[in-house]
Amino acid sequence: MPIQTEELLQMLACPRCLGALEAVYRGGETAGFACPACAVVYPVRDDIPIMLEEEAIPRQRWDAEQS
Ligand SMILES: [Zn+2]
Repeated sequence: MPIQTEELLQMLACPRCLGALEAVYRGGETAGFACPACAVVYPVRDDIPIMLEEEAIPRQRWDAEQS
């Protein structure tokens, strides 16, 4: 896990439930931060995590798009 992602995981919280997040990867890159409680993924765009409720992608849709 890249050190930056680990630091972000400690800093960031889900804007909806304030719960802890987990990183989701795509091709070795951090593609987003998932909230297991809300079943959503907050995408990372241009290395910036988009921690906005309105940008959250339902986990089911995220997984479908990744496969
Ligand atoms: Zn949440």
